[in-house]
Amino acid sequence: RHAFGHASVETVTAAVEAGRTVPEVPHYRSFHDYRAAGGYRLLEACLKGGRSPEELIAILSDAGLRGLGGAGFPAGRKWQFVRGYKGPRLMTVNGDEGEPGTFKDRHYLETDPHRMIEGALIAAWAVGAERIYIYMRDEYPTVLDILAKEIAAVELSGLATHAPIELRRGAGAYICGEESAMLESIEGKRGMPRHRPPYIAEVGLFGRPTLNHNVETLYWIRDIVEKGAAWFSSQGKEGHKGFRSYSVSGRVRQPGVKVAPAGISVRELIDEHCGGMLDGHAFAGFLPGGASGGIFPATMGDLPLDFGTFEKFGGFVGSHAVVILSDQDDIKAAALNLMSFFKDESCGQCTPCRVGSEKMVALLKSGAPIEESAIRDLMQVMRDASICGLGQAASNPVNHWLTYFAGAGK
Ligand code: SF4
Repeated sequence: RHAFGHASVETVTAAVEAGRTVPEVPHYRSFHDYRAAGGYRLLEACLKGGRSPEELIAILSDAGLRGLGGAGFPAGRKWQFVRGYKGPRLMTVNGDEGEPGTFKDRHYLETDPHRMIEGALIAAWAVGAERIYIYMRDEYPTVLDILAKEIAAVELSGLATHAPIELRRGAGAYICGEESAMLESIEGKRGMPRHRPPYIAEVGLFGRPTLNHNVETLYWIRDIVEKGAAWFSSQGKEGHKGFRSYSVSGRVRQPGVKVAPAGISVRELIDEHCGGMLDGHAFAGFLPGGASGGIFPATMGDLPLDFGTFEKFGGFVGSHAVVILSDQDDIKAAALNLMSFFKDESCGQCTPCRVGSEKMVALLKSGAPIEESAIRDLMQVMRDASICGLGQAASNPVNHWLTYFAGAGK
């Protein structure tokens, strides 16, 4: 290990010239090591006709693999849809991990990048995508350097001839993590979400049917196919299937990426995976899914942390980024901070989101007595009339602060 680790001279030089700080590259599993440990054998079997797309789609569906970028759409069904549209088709990998509190994709790419790359090459083969675009956030310069080097190694080996890989850098906009805004950005346009329908499975990148996956979704593909659907599906709790990678931060003793059964509760996560709360802090509340998933009180800490649970209360787990708050945190200040984040990150395309988020911040900052009905009216308009999830979910933290905490003076 040394200052620039495995990064290539060109990419590090380019980064330095662009004024980016290039941290030390962690020790990760290289192409050579991954291959030596059985990596890319599954891809080779697929390319040589030893496995069929239908077989893999059935395995992923039985396993219950869902989109782990936040939407939770069943992966097998998505493959089926994209395959059903007339080619040529394309594939994108969403590495714009911008949801506050989420860092699982970075962890996987900094430790075992080829597991994701092999998953992407298998997915492209299964749906007949002729090119893969990996969209990686520029805030992860180490990951960009690792990917530049490792993609080159895969291409040199001849394993990516069916779907050459292009690495594209994001430019810091949160909204480019929204899949259609990401496609606009890859096309060289301003990153603004598209109206749907049509969905990107039918009309996606450059107008072609497009399969889009989050990094972690692809990371699990090889293991699920090699170890079997039951290996993955049997891991969940409370009727939920599989593993989840929880990015845990906040007032716990041991924050980090915690791989745990889908459906685990936040209390179990704190006690069994994070060493408990920090000394002197009592569990008071939590964000189940980054900035947009809302803020809930500790009294709801026994609910399963997975898709479909928090929706009933106007929130969601999304990318499973869990932030733990304590009795020493000011929940109103946290809600205002999150609202300000959305105000800054709104792409400005639609009025309810652009003006509504600004208005909401002004109302909360004014110091005047809170007019709850006015705030709730504004939330309703933002939820009902915004084009994309950013505007629809931006007011979740404020909603929950009013519902669960304001009465308690928090
Ligand atoms: Fe842009 Fe906000 Fe409208 Fe989404 S909801 S398209 S971020 S203005």
